[in-house]
This record gives sequence, C-alpha cells and structure tokens, in this order.
Amino acid sequence: MGQNLNTGKINSATQVQYLKGVGPNRAEAFEQLGVKVVADLLEYYPRDWQFMPQPTKISQLKPDGEYTIVGLIESVDFFSHRRPAVLEVYVADETGPCRIIWFNGGYLRNQIMAGKFIMAFGKVGEYKHNVQFTNPRFILLDDPSQAAELQSSPAVYPATAKLSSQHIRRVIKPLIASIDELAEEYYSEQFRKTIAVLSRPQALAKIHDPADENDIAQAKRRLKFDELFLMQLALALKRYRLSHYEKAGQLKMTDEIDSRIRRRFPFLLTEDQNVVIAEICAGLAKSVPMNRLLQGDVGSGKTVVALYAALVAVANKKQVAIMAPTEILAAQHFNSIEKYLKGSAVRRCMIAGGLTGKKRQLLLDEIKTGRMDIVVGTIALLEHDIEFQNLGLIVIDEQHKFGVEQRSGLRKNTCPHCLVMTATPIPRTITMTAFGDLDVSVIKSSPPGRGAVVTRLVAHEDRTKAFEFIRERLKAKKQAYFVYPRITSEEDAQIKAAVDEYEILSKKIFREFKVELLHGQMTAEQKQDVMSRFRSGHVDVLVSTVVIEVGVDVPNATIMVIEDADRFGLAQLHQLRGRIGRGESKSYCLLFSNAQGEVARNRLGIMVRSNNGFEIADHDFKIRGPGEMFSTRQHGMPDFKIADISSDFDLLMLARKCALEMVQNDPFLTKPDNINIRKALLAKFKDTIFLADIA
Ligand code: ADP
Ligand code: MG
Repeated sequence: MGQNLNTGKINSATQVQYLKGVGPNRAEAFEQLGVKVVADLLEYYPRDWQFMPQPTKISQLKPDGEYTIVGLIESVDFFSHRRPAVLEVYVADETGPCRIIWFNGGYLRNQIMAGKFIMAFGKVGEYKHNVQFTNPRFILLDDPSQAAELQSSPAVYPATAKLSSQHIRRVIKPLIASIDELAEEYYSEQFRKTIAVLSRPQALAKIHDPADENDIAQAKRRLKFDELFLMQLALALKRYRLSHYEKAGQLKMTDEIDSRIRRRFPFLLTEDQNVVIAEICAGLAKSVPMNRLLQGDVGSGKTVVALYAALVAVANKKQVAIMAPTEILAAQHFNSIEKYLKGSAVRRCMIAGGLTGKKRQLLLDEIKTGRMDIVVGTIALLEHDIEFQNLGLIVIDEQHKFGVEQRSGLRKNTCPHCLVMTATPIPRTITMTAFGDLDVSVIKSSPPGRGAVVTRLVAHEDRTKAFEFIRERLKAKKQAYFVYPRITSEEDAQIKAAVDEYEILSKKIFREFKVELLHGQMTAEQKQDVMSRFRSGHVDVLVSTVVIEVGVDVPNATIMVIEDADRFGLAQLHQLRGRIGRGESKSYCLLFSNAQGEVARNRLGIMVRSNNGFEIADHDFKIRGPGEMFSTRQHGMPDFKIADISSDFDLLMLARKCALEMVQNDPFLTKPDNINIRKALLAKFKDTIFLADIA
C-alpha cells in the first residue's frame, strides 16, 4: 500500500478518484455512498471500532486469559436443535486448532465460512480439556497479513459489495497524517472552551484512528455537536429573520367573522379544535408570519381547522393556497371545501395537473388579479407561472410528503402565514429539530360520533371465512378497500400484488360486486375517475396500493383488508386504517399476513391493541429509528452522519442553547469569531432548505 501522499496537491475539495487506491470504479462506488470529495470521505465515519491485542498462537492460549487469534476457518457446523442453538467453528493456525462457538449463531452462517481467515478476540474457556472461545468479537480477513494492519487501525467502516471496510480504511488512513491541512476548525478558541470539545481536525483524526475508547468518545462528542449545532444555528437564524424582518398581513378576527365561519360547519367544533383554532388565530393576528405545524391523527378534524383559518384570511380580503401532496388528495380537499361552502360567496377553484390551455390561463388570471379567494392544488401551485395578488395564508397538508424546501419556494416573493398539517405523529425531538422553525399545535382527540374500528389479524387458513364476512357487509351496501404492498408481482412472486389480486377478486371472489383498481402508475385522471366512482358508491371494492394512504374520506367504506400487512411500517398501517371508521357504523380492519416470525406478529399485535397514532408511532420510532421513519428526502430532515436525535438529546439541547445565544449576539454571523461558522453553515446547507435564509 502506498502511503506516501503528495498532500501538496490534495485538499478537502479534491475528488476521491484522485486519491491513491481509488480509480474510476471505486470512485463510483464511493459516490454511491455520498462520498465525492475528500471532505466527504473524512465525514464517512466508522460504524464500529475493534481494539484487539497482539495475536497469540493457538498453542499458547491459556484458560481465563483474553486473547486475539488469527487463523483459517476449517469447519463450520450449526446445531439448530440445541437449546440454545450453537454455531461451532474450528479455526487453526500453524500451531494447532481451536474451537469457537456462538450461541444462537445461525445468523453468522453466511459470513463465517470454511476457507476464510478470521481474527477473533475474547476470553478463553475450557471445553473437553481444550481451549475454546465463546461468542468472541471477530473480523473476517482476506488474508492473515491484514491482521497487523487491523491491529494498528481499529476502525470498521460501513461497507458495500464493491467497497470493503478494509479498503475504505486504506484510503482514509493516509489522509489522517495531514488532517490539519484537510479539515478546518471553525469555532473560535473561546467558543470551543465553553463547550469543551476537541478541535475539529483532532476529532476527525481520532474518529478514524483512535488509540482507545476515550478517544472515540471525545471525537464523537465534537462531531455530533457540529452536526446538531449547525442545524440548530440554521433554524435559529431562520427564526430570527422571520420574526424581525418579514412582515405578514395581520389577519383580524371578530365575533362576527367567527360565528359566520362556524355556521358553515354542520357540527360543533370539538374542544381540541377550538384550542387549536385559538392558537392559529393568535398567530394570524400578528405581523410576524405564522409558521405552525398542526398535528393530529387521521380523522381528528384538521381539514376543518384549516378551512376555518382559510376563511379568516378570506374575511380579511386575502387569498389562500391549500396544497396536498397528490392530486387525489387535493381533489378530496376541494370537494369537502365545496361541501362546507355551498352557497357561499367565497370564490374557490382547484388547479389540476390535467388543466391546460385557455381554461388554465383563465384561472391563473383570476388568481393573479385577486378574483379567486381559495386555490386548491398540488405542488403545481408552486410553479412559476402561478402568481397571487395577495396571498395571506398557505395551508400545506401532509407536509412530510413535500419536504421543507418547497415550502420556502412558495415564500419567494411574498410572506404569507403558513399552516402545515400532518397526520404523522412526530416525536418531540423531531419537531424540535427538523421542524425547529415551527410552532406546534396538536389535536389530541377525534370528533365524537365516529364508528369504532376493530382490527384483526387474519391467518392464511381463515381467509375464506374473512371473505364471507366481507361479502355480507358488501351486500349490506358497505364498501371495502383491499390494499397491497405492490402494484405487480414481477419483483417478488411471494408478495401479493394489486394487479394480480384484482383479477381474482373481480372475476372470482367478488364477482357479483363492482371491483376496481387504483394504483400509482395510473394517470391522475384515471385515478380521479376511480376515486369519484368509489366516493359516490358505484364501486364496492377498491383494490389499491398505498396511494390511498392519506386523506381519502369515504365514510361508507367500513372495511379494509391489508394484504401482507407485515410488509408495511406501523405508522403506515395506521395511516391506512385511518381511511375507515369515518362514518358512524363500526369498521373492520383485517390484517392478512403469513408472517410466522415473532417480531412480525408482535408488531402487528400493536395494531390490534392500539388505535392511538402517537403510541404506534412511538413503537415504530423505537423499532426502526428516525432515519427510516423520516427519510431525509421525504422530510427535509437534515442528514445526520453521526448524531442521533433519538439518543443524543442532551447534546441537542446544548447545541440549541448555543445556537440561540449566538444568533442573539450576532444575528448575521459577521463578527470575526463567527465568520468561519457562517462559512461552514453555508457549505453544509448549500443544497438545502436554509440557504435562502442566511445567504
Ligand atoms: P383530518 O383532516 O384530520 O383527517 P377531517 O377534518 O377530514 O380530519 O375530519 C374527519 C371527519 O370528521 C370529516 O368527515 C369531518 O366532517 C368530521 N368532523 C370534523 N370535525 C368534526 C366535529 N367537530 N364534529 C363532528 N364531525 C367532525
Ligand atoms: Mg384530512
């Protein structure tokens, strides 16, 4: 391995393909990991560190000592019938063999294979007068000579099929010697003292090449802090700017406006709805733009609250944009708005994707000249050619499908109030971070008079019975959803797919009923068509994928079958289930699943036991972690490489406090001490949400 780097030519912006040991192929593999330049590489952190003492020859091992051995795997046997099951491996070096066992080690069988080399570390015990290791730590080696290298570099990197951990280490390690030229400290001496962290170059050197556990802990602290701090700083700057510089129209409330709006609803608003409306009205009345997240379980009555807010804006002679993530949902909103506003003078329209030519131009003109009050649509509303004369409020439904970027897009020329609705219960740590620039209102309980939803797990042998049960309901003029994880079964014949099952349901099982298909590959027009027939009761059974996940409201649909339910996340199942139980009669959610595993059974069991979205989301959050539940792309959530907001809460609070103080004292980050922080911030968020707010 050539370690002699000509660092004179290499800097943090150097592309990785110019580094020793990286050609175009490997560069491509690195790129897939998000690593393009040296700076990215330095932030490609190890997933683990394995400190192993000098290897000892197998013949020298003594019971009760701790040793590292390096040897060839000679045999691997798995005894699944024992309790616990045992993976038995024999490893030999030139001095003899040694037994290693892993209890419940079945999962290791596709890694630990005869003919490979292994380095194992752990305490040695005795077995039939010979030494043996039990559940040792281990690393598999391409050849035994790698042991020495590993010895001096404990970092283990997240690897891919094309890039082994070893290889990644060999590319990174030579850089560490010149870390001071490749990485920059951006905190002032003073700031670094108050938070007591390593310098950034030091931390980077230690994370990749620590001498001991303490090095790792210190390095992690600094690098996690950086991620959390820069994000909190961006949010604090944004908040500052919003509250100090942007003016919004003050939307005034009077008793008359209030009662005029309430008359539109055929029911009394719930306690929670009233509380939330009061919070929203307080925000709308200020000249600082409101930026509020409205959380509430599916069916809790958010749409009604949003319409209330919209009507307040209209009463103040302002325009309102209401946006949903899909055309179906936008249409749904528009329909319910139509229902509530029947006979009202409020001018409203929907901008659909299929709308073109003269008709579209006419509507755009009306919007531009202020002759349209409420405009409903999808992201299309964000397109450049849609101009409002006097936009006072933006309502965004299901914002987690949007990403925050688009929200700032709409704010381009004007500064309306903004209400973001989400049915995904979001843990507090997340609202404080990804949504750190939003105030939060929560609707906790749902309106009365809604039918209960009974959820049942249905095993394979009970399918026929379940179909009979559904047939009876369909005969009683109820409607049903059948939801599948896939559109077609090409990818995996094991998983039920909507298109195939549609054939079976429509031609065989429910031949006497009207069965229709809905999925994401259909055109917007086709989808709308099917939905409107389902809504009007002309379709009995809707076979679909998760496209119906959010917001669809058909009270007469009281049955939902979810096939291969174990394939869905809990939060997603809960969202789906929220489509039923919307009317007064009892609804049934049947989770079909062939999963035998205990984990899958338990997960689905939560769905049977709980109807509380927050409780379910919490479980999901624990099982899957925030990463998967709130993917960056979907959420506009900052992409953390090392910080973990579900466990680094204290550090997050420290970062938040420091960020707020810094912005208080230096709102533009122009003081000499903060100049480099500002630079780091701009570099970090150059492609994302925050730039517009600080550049
Ligand atoms: P969300 O948008 O939170 O899913 P919606 O606003 O669509 O919920 O309301 C769900 C259903 O409950 C709708 O059919 C709506 O008419 C009804 N609803 C809303 N608020 C009330 C209320 N205060 N009392 C009775 N029904 C209500
Ligand atoms: Mg809704």
